[in-house]
Amino acid sequence: MELKKLNDRIFYYPHQQETDRPMLVYLKGEKIMMAVDAGNSADHVDEFYSALESKGLKKPDFTVITHWHWDHTFGMHHIHGLSIAHNRTNEFLDIERAKLSDNEYVQFLKKDDECLNREYGDNKKIVVVRSDIQFEKELTINLGGVTARIFHAESPHSEDTVLIYVPEEKILFLGDSTSEDFFNDSYMDRDKLDKLINLIESTDCKYCILGHAEPLTKERLLYYLKSL
Ligand SMILES: [Zn+2]
Repeated sequence: MELKKLNDRIFYYPHQQETDRPMLVYLKGEKIMMAVDAGNSADHVDEFYSALESKGLKKPDFTVITHWHWDHTFGMHHIHGLSIAHNRTNEFLDIERAKLSDNEYVQFLKKDDECLNREYGDNKKIVVVRSDIQFEKELTINLGGVTARIFHAESPHSEDTVLIYVPEEKILFLGDSTSEDFFNDSYMDRDKLDKLINLIESTDCKYCILGHAEPLTKERLLYYLKSL
C-alpha cells in the first residue's frame, strides 16, 4: 500500500479493513516529524515506515495516540522516537497488558475479533506498552511551520479520546471519536455525540480525518453525524 498525500505537510497511510488497521497519519514539520496513531502491530508500523521511506520521508520523532483500542496502540512498542498519550489511555493500556499476561484472554481476543486474529494469527505475540510522554488536558507541539494541538475531548467512543488540530492546514484529526462505544454494547451516547458535534462545528477546519475512513470535508462529516 502507498502513502497518500493530503498536502505538502500531511500524508497518510490508508486504513485496512481486513485487519482493522486504522489510518496512520504523518505530519511533516521543518523540525519535527509526528505520526498519529501507532497501528495494530509491529508489522503495521514496519509497513508504514517503509511507505515513508519510499517517499524519502524520515521516521517520526513523536507518535500521538488517539485512544487505547488495540488497533491504534498494539504497534506502540515498535515505533521510532517517543509516544505521547493521554493519562487515561495509559491506564487502559495497563489494564489490557495485565489481562494479556493470561493466555486464556489472548485466545478469547482472537476468537472474539476476527480482525485481530487475522493480524496476529497463531505466532505473533501481542505486546502492550504505555506511552513515553503523558498529558492530561492538552499539549501543543510546534513541528516547525506547522503546529499540532493535541487535546483530550469528550466523545461517545472512548473516555480517553484525544483529538489533534492543525490550524495552519485547517485539519482536525478525530480518530474513532465519532463512533459508538464498542465496549458498552455499541452504545451511542447522544449527549457526548452532541458535544463532539459542537466542538467540530466551532473548530476552524476544512477537513476532518477519521481513523477508519478516507478524509472527509467538515460539512460532510457534520451532515452525516447529524443524520444519526
Ligand atoms: Zn476505537
